[in-house]
Parts: sequence; structure tokens; C-alpha cells
Amino acid sequence: MSTIVIGAGLAGLAAARKLTQAGEEVVVLEAQPYVGGRTRSDRDRLGEGRPADLGASFIDIGQDKVLAYCDELELELTPAFPLFPTAPGGRLTAASPLRSQVVLDGQRVDDWLRDQLAAEVHAALDAIAPTSTETVSAWTARSGLSPDARRLFCAQTGFNPVHVAAQVPMSMLEPPHIGRVCWMLADGTDSIARKLAESLDIRLGQPARLVRRTRGRIEVDTDTDTFTGYDVVVATPVTPTLRIGFDPVLPPWKIDALLSTPMTQGGKVVARYADGEEIVARIVPSVLSDGPITLAWARPVAADGSVTVLGLAADRADGFLRDEASALAALDQLIGTVLGRAPRRLGGIVQDWTQEQYAGGVVSILLADFPRLPSLLAQGVGPVHFAGEHTAEMWATSMDGALRSGERAADEVLLRRRIRAGRVATS
Ligand SMILES: Cc1cc2nc3c(=O)[nH]c(=O)nc-3n(C[C@H](O)[C@H](O)[C@H](O)COP(=O)(O)OP(=O)(O)OC[C@H]3O[C@@H](n4cnc5c(N)ncnc54)[C@H](O)[C@@H]3O)c2cc1C
Repeated sequence: MSTIVIGAGLAGLAAARKLTQAGEEVVVLEAQPYVGGRTRSDRDRLGEGRPADLGASFIDIGQDKVLAYCDELELELTPAFPLFPTAPGGRLTAASPLRSQVVLDGQRVDDWLRDQLAAEVHAALDAIAPTSTETVSAWTARSGLSPDARRLFCAQTGFNPVHVAAQVPMSMLEPPHIGRVCWMLADGTDSIARKLAESLDIRLGQPARLVRRTRGRIEVDTDTDTFTGYDVVVATPVTPTLRIGFDPVLPPWKIDALLSTPMTQGGKVVARYADGEEIVARIVPSVLSDGPITLAWARPVAADGSVTVLGLAADRADGFLRDEASALAALDQLIGTVLGRAPRRLGGIVQDWTQEQYAGGVVSILLADFPRLPSLLAQGVGPVHFAGEHTAEMWATSMDGALRSGERAADEVLLRRRIRAGRVATS
């Protein structure tokens, strides 16, 4: 084996694919019994084999890497749609999500009041420019927003999702990075990973426990086997990376960078409902709420008239995501509030990423006050290379960033090969 890749998420798969295409012998070690990591889709619980996207959903305009993969792998996308309405004049700001369907205190806010609240936030953003490092709760206090506008604005922090607005920097909301034009994978988000995996040597159920450097080689120990190569690409999220042993230990700057990168916590509540056309007519493009499910949106209506609705829930340490029946009932209630009657649920599933030991949370929080973090997270240590959404120079935290980071790590390995073969001048 020439290279060992740890983690069969999009970063690891992109690295393995590029290395394989360059003629490297690659093995991918994946702890879980499936590929795709945080792009997992379940096909058992909604009925009729419908995909429930338990992690990532959206591809945004400008995310050219993931769009190129979809094109090359011939994966079908849903029709493009805006996730949030823009303000009159076409601007997308952190006030835009407030122009969606809005539910406050379990009640639907009428369109007139909603537009007033959105206009209030919009004006405040223009008048009192947020600094990138101040928290959402600090800016909302400083800007003097009314209590309702403040609560709604703060509810957005659940999109990421994090516990409380006091922990989220304004740089994560303003300017908005996503929402103008989006697509979803027509056959479930995991179709990218599944397609990439077809031509790779992937060993499922093989959690890497120890990465050892011995006599010019790398050895990776799992619970049952040892794999040997010249290089390793560690494509695991921040928290699981900290659980892998390294011998020799990683340098202090790398450990500091990993320890300085928290991950957001939360999950998804996904259900399939009858009367899809009626539901979609009410909830498109999305529903924003100050309840446990902060954002809900729908897939296109299926041929049988049903629709899959996806809800994002922040982990507020209240056990919400660990009680599946209650979490699904909360999604029924949210949809029922905008629909005006109880929806008929045909199937449902709840995914709690906080509880997943090989994910460690939803996505990394790359805090704006540590601008050097992404490059430190990406920096290799000799034959040990690092990939993953948290290491991406562009579109960090997303599928696009994960794919880019995997390709970058593969390039690093290939450069080492050329140096070793004397094909690159090193001085
Ligand atoms: C709820 C949610 C919503 C999201 N929404 C979006 C969205 O709409 N659009 C978007 O672009 N992105 C979204 N994301 C983020 C996106 O899913 C991630 O950025 C991307 O999938 C990360 O890919 P990765 O390869 O870096 O990590 P992962 O997908 O986490 O892959 C890492 C892999 O490593 C494995 N692993 C961990 N430890 C070990 C070990 N010791 N040994 C072997 N294997 C190990 C894991 O099992 C996993 O398969 C969302 C994520 C979540 C959870």
C-alpha cells in the first residue's frame, strides 16, 4: 500500500480518488459500516425507499467543486431554489431568513409583521455594522432590536447549529454565505459518496486507533489489523482526530489548532408527509422558528404526492434529539402551524450528530478571531497529511470544502512522491 486514507467522508474519498487516478495504491479505512460520513442518507425509515438526508443537504451557487463532481459522476440535482427570500432590491443579508415563513412561540407570524421584523433587522444591519468577532447576542443588544426581531434573528444561530447566540460570531451570519440559489441531490446527499466509493478499496468498520511512523513507513492500527504505507491522509473531523493516537505525538501547534476548533452540535428531524403539494405551497422556501427546530424545508414533491420535510435542530442540551417520538411530533407541529392543520406523517427519522463518536458534532466552527487556524489545521506533518471540511481554504464547513481539502491532501502526497523520486528540486 502506498497511501492510507483514514475516513470515507467526502474529503477522504476525494483524496483517495485523486491518488488512485495518479497510480497510487490506496486503502481507505472507515470506522462506520457506511461511506459518506456527514453526508449520510437513510433509505429505510421514510417508506418507499425515499432518502432522508441526515447530514448535509444543500449545494450552493458558487460551490463549483461539488457541482463539478455531480456533473462528472452524472448525479441528478433537484431544480434550483432560493433557501431564503431576498430583500426588496435583491439583497441577501442576515435579515433575509426572517422573510421566510416564520413561527414564533408556536404561532405563525403573519406576512405583514414578518416583513416589518425583517425590515427592522435589515435597517439595523445597515446602520450598525457588526464586527466579525462580536457574538450574535452582543450585536442584537447593541443594535437595539425589538424583542421579537431579536428572538427571530437569534433563532438563525440554530442553522449552524450551536447552543446559544452568545457563542456564535456575527461573521457566521453576515454576510450570508448560503441561501441565494441552492440544489439538493435528487437521489439523496450520499449519492456522491456512494458513487465515489465504487472504484476505491474501502475497508468499512475499521476505526484507526494509532498512526505510527517507523523506519520511513507509516503504520495504522485498527482494532483488528495493521495497514502499512508511505503516507497517511487523516480525513476525520476535528474531535475524532483528537481521539486517534499518533506516535510520535503531533507537534504542539497542530494539537493547539485542533483543540481551538470547536464543533457545532445538533442534528436533523426528517419526515415524509402525505399531501405534498399543499405542504410545499405553504412552507416554500423555508420555515424559520424560535422553537427546537429552527429551520425546515422540503424536497420536491414525489410522484405519489408525498413530500419529505427536513428540519435542523440545535442541541440545547435538553435531550430533544434523543427522544425520537417527541422530535418528530415537534416537526409535525411546526408544519401543522404553517399548514393550518395536522399533517399526515408517513415515516420519519431523527439524527443526533452530537452522539456520533466518529463525527463529534455537525461542522467545525472556524472562529474569525483565529484567522490562521484553517492553514494550521491543513498543514501536514511529514508523511501525515490532513483533510476535512475544517481544513479547507475555501467553502470550509461544507461538502465543497471537504472535496477541495481531499484533493489538496492528495496533491501533497503526490508532491512528496516526486521529491522522493528526485523529480522535484528541493533546494
Ligand atoms: C446536520 C448537517 C447539515 C449539514 N448541511 C450541509 C449543507 O447543507 N451543505 C453542505 O455543503 N454541507 C453541510 N454539512 C456539512 C458537510 O456534511 C460536511 O462539511 C462534510 O460532509 C464533511 O466531510 P468530511 O469528509 O470532512 O468529514 P466527514 O463526512 O465527517 O467524514 C469523516 C469520516 O471519517 C470517519 N472516521 C472518523 N474517525 C475515524 C477513525 N478513527 N477511523 C476511521 N474513520 C473515522 C467518519 O466515520 C466519517 O465517515 C452539514 C452537516 C451536518 C451534520
